[in-house]
Amino acid sequence: MPKTAIVTGGSRGIGEAIVRMLSKEGYNVILNYNKSEDKARKIQKEIKNIDIVKADVSTRKGAKDIVEITLNKYKNIDVLINNAGISQTKLFTDITDEDWNTMINTNLSSAFYMCQEVLPNMLHNKSGCIINISSIWGITGASCEVHYSVAKAGMDGLTKSLAKEVGPSNIRVNSIAPGIINTDMNKKLSIEDKKNIINEIPLEKIGEPEDVANAVKWLIGDSYTTGQIISVNGGWNI
Ligand code: NAP
Repeated sequence: MPKTAIVTGGSRGIGEAIVRMLSKEGYNVILNYNKSEDKARKIQKEIKNIDIVKADVSTRKGAKDIVEITLNKYKNIDVLINNAGISQTKLFTDITDEDWNTMINTNLSSAFYMCQEVLPNMLHNKSGCIINISSIWGITGASCEVHYSVAKAGMDGLTKSLAKEVGPSNIRVNSIAPGIINTDMNKKLSIEDKKNIINEIPLEKIGEPEDVANAVKWLIGDSYTTGQIISVNGGWNI
């Protein structure tokens, strides 16, 4: 029987590449999106075994809706990819309460809500794989992205502690922490900015969404890796 996977923020960028990989691997894929309805519908037309669900994962209700729709149709959830995220560049002193709350809710509370909603099913099945897409900035910290870095460091903390708690139930929890990946999130960078970044990366290139999807593919096929933060960053931080 095909396995079922949920990907939050699957309408663009890294999430889209993960959705396409999972479909190729024979999964029933639940693609969650929030604003990019046209993109989600286009992907749905192009690939097999896919359902699209509009929901804002920064809210408990959004997470609940995605899981309820998935379980009504497929009964089980084998894989959860917490990928949805936003970024913002601001001096620390300019970050407003609203900026802070939006960042934490979208990039961190979303993973808390989604994990809590899928876990009863995974615990019942004594099986599951959760992957949090965090960031190099959660490990090293980024100037002018303090709220983003805090949210991603929090995600890695969730990964490590939850892995310990649910490991005895054969549920694995890991983070994949990308470096710089070629998506809309980085479209504001100038050619000069990109050149400067590439100069710091041993593999001398920016990553592609498929590089992250490949790491996800390996991790879901594995059975003995849990609680780890796996860097996919071309050696940018070693
Ligand atoms: P992206 O191209 O900007 O795509 C972001 C995705 O998140 C979109 O599908 C968007 O959906 C979804 N999303 C945002 N807010 C949401 C919400 N409230 N509810 C549901 N979905 C929401 O970004 P990306 O580069 O692919 O990033 C994906 C993940 O990788 C993020 O967590 C990001 O922090 C992380 N990451 C990216 C990089 C990088 O260099 N690109 C590096 C490290 C980590 P809609 O468009 O439908 O709203």
